[in-house]
Amino acid sequence: MDHFNYRDGLLYAEDVPLTRIAEEVGTPVYVYSTATLERHYTVFADAFAGMRASVFYAVKANSNIAVIKTLADLGAGADVVSEGELRRALAAGVPPQKIVFSGVGKTREELAYALDVGILEINVESENELELLNAVAGEKGVTAEIAIRVNPDVDAKTHAKISTGKKENKFGIDIDRAVDVFRHAQSLTHIHPVTVASHIGSQLTDLDPYRAAFTRLVALVGELRAAGIDIKRLDLGGGLGIPYDGEEPPLPDAYAALVREVVGDLDVELFFEPGRMIAGNAGILLSKVLFEKHGEARRFVILDAAMNDLIRPALYDGHHGLKPVKEPSSDADWTPADIVGPVCESGDTFAKDRLLPRFVDGELVAFTSAGAYGAVMASTYNTRPLVPEVLVKGDRYAVIRPRQTFEEILGAERFPDWQTDDGGGRMAAVSG
Ligand SMILES: *Cc1c(COP(=O)(O)O)cnc(C)c1O
Repeated sequence: MDHFNYRDGLLYAEDVPLTRIAEEVGTPVYVYSTATLERHYTVFADAFAGMRASVFYAVKANSNIAVIKTLADLGAGADVVSEGELRRALAAGVPPQKIVFSGVGKTREELAYALDVGILEINVESENELELLNAVAGEKGVTAEIAIRVNPDVDAKTHAKISTGKKENKFGIDIDRAVDVFRHAQSLTHIHPVTVASHIGSQLTDLDPYRAAFTRLVALVGELRAAGIDIKRLDLGGGLGIPYDGEEPPLPDAYAALVREVVGDLDVELFFEPGRMIAGNAGILLSKVLFEKHGEARRFVILDAAMNDLIRPALYDGHHGLKPVKEPSSDADWTPADIVGPVCESGDTFAKDRLLPRFVDGELVAFTSAGAYGAVMASTYNTRPLVPEVLVKGDRYAVIRPRQTFEEILGAERFPDWQTDDGGGRMAAVSG
């Protein structure tokens, strides 16, 4: 459920008409709903009531500090995958002791920073990382509490580019080798392995892969305990899907029931790292129709948003609903159209053959389910400024990231000294 609905013929975000945001902030613009973020977090967290469970919001899904703070204020921790995200979580007020650090390629500097700020746990993904972390912790005279991420070798049955739990994926340590690696970790002076972690993929719409993975993890915890390693926690990752195109992903309650059934008796603390299911349907990308163009064979709807603003369709065939902000009349004529952006790539196509009413130039449209893996993946390709972000709460809204200016883009670049008279790295001349 989200809070983007038609009222009196206009699409609203909570109690704010999207036409107002378009007028005052311009388009394209991401718009997030506080009530939807809060609802999704609460439904997920409440599903585990009575269990020792903690929720770490996967910051990479939507890392705006105001979004993180909305969730942190409800008690969420943060799952981060870079020093930058760690800094965002801290800036949003997440206490270090509620932060876990995942990722397959952390640098020495990132590990050192994580130890300095004293986060809860580092999720180690390789034996070389284990050695590096032991060395860095040794230099600082501290012991690092860690999870080891294992790869349970199950097929998450999701898109190949967001599947992470098969042997051929780069993530984690093969489950067959996990006992050896945990033993080795235990022998290192500055490492304290306490958690088994796993994350098998994103946008899962079926519980079976979870059941297969969790069953293997339970067996592993048994083996580890028999080997004298005191496992205190199980981190089950994220990955629950959302309905983009009529999918019916499991509800948090069904997911929680499976968790209870498979790992309920293990006497461990449970960690979860949901991202998409919290933020995905809490955001839309509001855009303007620049032109309709009717070729001989096709109808094109050309928007002011492009693949640099929302790359999911181009990157992994992601589907987003498209709603006209002005509610179509009941007698509107719906015909197939290709929805495209202005970027000079044929891949800059949001959808093909989508049934849509006829638009007039300048009309507003909203891509739905764009709150996760949307703004965070935006780029300035074609020198298009980074798209702004707005957070709505009831009848109020705030710009939580302004539109990037051309001055900011050009001002970040320098001429080398051989291109300038004065030999200095002079800034490019920019006219306002
Ligand atoms: C991306 C990621 C998540 C979140 O995945 P969602 O599909 O957004 O829930 C959780 N844990 C780890 C380690 C991740 O890399």
